[in-house]
Amino acid sequence: MVKNVDLVIIGGGPAGYEAAFVAASGGMKTVILEKEAIGGTCLNHGCIPTKTIMHSTGLFKKLEKIDELGINLENKSIDFRVVQNRKKEIVDKLRDGILSRINKNNVEVILGEGKIISKNAVKIGDETIETKFILIATGTSAMIPPIRGCDIDGVITSDEILEYNKKPYKELTIIGGGVIGTEFANIFSDVGTHVTVIEALDRILPNMDREISQSFKMTLKKRGVSVHEASLVEEIVKDEQGLTCRYKEKGKDAVVTSEAVLIAVGRKANIINLYEDNIKLEIEKGLIKVNDNYQTVYPNIYAVGDVIGGVQLAHAAAAEGKNAVMHILGSEDRIDTKVIPSCIYTTPEIASVGITSDDAKRQNIKVITKKFPMLANGKTVLSGMDRGYVKIIADENTHKVLGAQMMCGRATDMISELTLAIVNELTLEDIKKVIHPHPTFSEAIKDALN
Ligand code: NAD
Repeated sequence: MVKNVDLVIIGGGPAGYEAAFVAASGGMKTVILEKEAIGGTCLNHGCIPTKTIMHSTGLFKKLEKIDELGINLENKSIDFRVVQNRKKEIVDKLRDGILSRINKNNVEVILGEGKIISKNAVKIGDETIETKFILIATGTSAMIPPIRGCDIDGVITSDEILEYNKKPYKELTIIGGGVIGTEFANIFSDVGTHVTVIEALDRILPNMDREISQSFKMTLKKRGVSVHEASLVEEIVKDEQGLTCRYKEKGKDAVVTSEAVLIAVGRKANIINLYEDNIKLEIEKGLIKVNDNYQTVYPNIYAVGDVIGGVQLAHAAAAEGKNAVMHILGSEDRIDTKVIPSCIYTTPEIASVGITSDDAKRQNIKVITKKFPMLANGKTVLSGMDRGYVKIIADENTHKVLGAQMMCGRATDMISELTLAIVNELTLEDIKKVIHPHPTFSEAIKDALN
């Protein structure tokens, strides 16, 4: 069977379905091909399930000090089966929402694995779809490093740990102190697991502001998490004690034994079986190479989202998907993808946008740095939170906001105010003019400027 459309989107994650909405509203006959379930990594194995589980574990952690709030609760325990059922309900509900938007936009979804067979045709099952344009939005999957023992039972990726439905682990070792590693360190230390994080570089969260890495490491340690930086795992072995990771910390041999080992060392692009040999996409470091308009070497084949690398975040992928379709439609109406906020949903939350003071030094930009410690923020104190700060970086001459880093309650919401400021070239004085309600975490933004 052969059908004709304007746009075939391979991958039904945020990049794919957001692109489909723009294409459909631009009058394009659009089909999404999805091999698993609509929603992509974000909905099925990423942001939404993680944050749903975290919502439960975070509340459970708060119960530790609930007596101090005048509340007495006995026999506190957490049942991961219930947490998982709630997670499933939430994911299903959100997927229904996306599917109803897809239907409303008259976008067709075909479940199955699509393969590009020529620059204007994609095959799925027995069906061949002829198309003017193709958008690749196939995302990434967990990367398994070349460490001996990664295939042993009990060594898992974030996909597997997100399905965990038993009693909290006694001990968990996490290889990789990036975003996934620290979020799961947070989740499992919340429920009493002794967590060990092993990070290869000299600091956890190496892509964040150095001060955030240091402060968050202290927060983890306070929660009982063991953090080992500049540490390389050499092998994982299984014995009666459990899973033992042998690693070198700053050159010295070390070991840690735990019930499970989580691999969180980054993600690899999903490009295997994506196209026939006659299609010669340019691949660099395992990622699809595109130009500024998200076009591959074939001008009618676009690629967006995690599969092209860059900032591998759902909101960045969605913006790229929309921008690629805007380019197809000949519209200049684009989302600014130069300024992308990144958020880590730990306790406290971490968020960052624009440049850090280290970036400014590297780029030779003279900046002023404004900072407010959250210990002096009423909402932080009354909520029982401790460490953290809001930092704002501005150009020394123009006072235009260039960056912000936060580690505090609601940081992941508040970062939007600073993103708006950077995109619209607002100055510190512009922000100062704005009344921030009291008592809120967001007051710290204004207080940083006084
Ligand atoms: P990451 O790149 O954030 O972190 C991986 C970490 O593993 C790095 O710090 C790296 O130095 C370390 N590492 C690599 N090899 C190692 C080894 N052999 N031993 C020890 N450490 C090693 O990757 P991730 O945490 O796997 O996350 C994957 C992607 O998903 C990222 O792009 C991330 O931004 C995204 N993500 C985002 C969120 C969010 O927005 N809140 C949450 C989860 C994941």
